[in-house]
Amino acid sequence: MSYRSGRHFVQIPGPTNVPERVLRALARPTIDHRGPEFAHLAKEVLAGLKRIVKTEGPVVIYPSSGTGAWEAALVNTLSPGDKVLMFETGHFATLWRNMALALGLEVDFVPTDWRRGADPAIVWDKLSRDKEHSIKAVAIVHNETSTGVTSRIAEIRRAMDDADHPALLLVDTISSLASIDYRHDEWKVDVTVGCSQKGLMLPPGLGINAMSSKALEANAKAKLPRSFWDWRPMLEANEAGFFPYTPATNLLYGLKESIAMLEEEGLENVFARHARHAEATRRAVGAWGLETQCANPLEHSNTLTGVRMPHGVDADKVRKVILERFNMSLGTGLGKLKGSMFRIGHLGDFNDLMLLGTLAGVEMGLGLAGVPHKRGGVDAAMDYLYETLR
Ligand SMILES: *Cc1c(COP(=O)(O)O)cnc(C)c1O
Repeated sequence: MSYRSGRHFVQIPGPTNVPERVLRALARPTIDHRGPEFAHLAKEVLAGLKRIVKTEGPVVIYPSSGTGAWEAALVNTLSPGDKVLMFETGHFATLWRNMALALGLEVDFVPTDWRRGADPAIVWDKLSRDKEHSIKAVAIVHNETSTGVTSRIAEIRRAMDDADHPALLLVDTISSLASIDYRHDEWKVDVTVGCSQKGLMLPPGLGINAMSSKALEANAKAKLPRSFWDWRPMLEANEAGFFPYTPATNLLYGLKESIAMLEEEGLENVFARHARHAEATRRAVGAWGLETQCANPLEHSNTLTGVRMPHGVDADKVRKVILERFNMSLGTGLGKLKGSMFRIGHLGDFNDLMLLGTLAGVEMGLGLAGVPHKRGGVDAAMDYLYETLR
C-alpha cells in the first residue's frame, strides 16, 4: 500500500481515536509490577476509575477485552442453572446471552426488532410474576453498539424496585462509560462491565468490573467455576496496589492519563459534548432523508449512530467506497444487520471539526456509491453545532 497523506479517520464505535497524550503515556518503559512505583500507579487508577463509574465500592481491571469482563460479571455472581433475564437489543446483547448459555446459565431472552432498548415495563412484568425469585440476575447492555440504542438503566432499576425483586442488576457499559451519563451506585447496579477502547480513549486490552456489596455477597455463594476471572484474589492483591498476575502495565499508564483528561474536561461536559455531536449527526441523517437504526426517540445513543440504507443498497459497499476514497473507517452492520446499515462512531477524543469531516466523508460517499439521498446533511449538522456553540 502506498502512503496516504493526512490522517485516517477511525469512526467505528470502538476502538476509538487514541489521543496524543495517551499515546505518549503508553510509550513509557514498563516497570516492575511488584514494586512500589507500580503500587502507587495501580491505587491511583483504581481510585480514578471509581470516580468515572461513580461508585464507592471496589473496581477491578483485567488484562482483557470487554468480553472477558462480561464473563467475570457472570461467573463471579451466578451458579450453574441460574436464570438470567436479558433483552435481545442487538448483536452484543446476543453475544452476552450466548456466553451465559455456554457457561450453563438459563436465559430468558426477550426479543426486540433491534431498533429499541430493554423495556422497563417488561422487566417489571417478568419480575412481578416471578414470585419464587427464580430469576437471579437482570443483565442489560446499556449502549447497544450494534444499533446505536441506549437502554434506560435508571428506569430499569426503578422497575426492579417496584417489583420488589432481589435479582442482581448487571450492566454492560462498554460503549457508554465515560461518554454517556452512568451512575453505578445511584442506580444500584450490582456489576458494571467496561473496557478500555471506547469512551476511555485507550487501545484495547483492559476489562473492567465494578461491584456492589450485594454482588460481593453473591460472589461468596456463586458456584460457576472461575479462576482467572475470580474477583477475590484480585481484590486482595489490589488492597496493596498489586495484581495476582501480570497486569497490562503500559495500558494503566494510559488509563491514568485518560482519567486525567476526562476530569480536566469534566465528566458532565464530556457527556454534553457527546450528546451534542449525536444530535448533530442525527440531523445530518434526517437531512439526507435516511433513517437511524434506533426507532425510539428516548433511546438514541450519544456515542454512535446506526444509519439504515434504502432497500437494495449494500451498506458495506458504501463503507468500502468511503474507506478507499476518503480513508475513513465506519462500523459495519453486525449480525442480522449486515449489509442493511452502517454505524458512525462519534465518541471518545472528538470535536466539532472531526465530526463535520466525518459527516462530509459520509455525504460524499453516499453520492459516490449512488445511494438515493438528499444533499445538505453536513449543513444541517453545522447549523446545529453553530447554534449550540457555548
Ligand atoms: C465492544 C463491545 C463489546 C465487546 O468488547 P470486546 O472488547 O470486543 O471484547 C461488548 N459489548 C459492547 C456493548 C461493546 O460495544
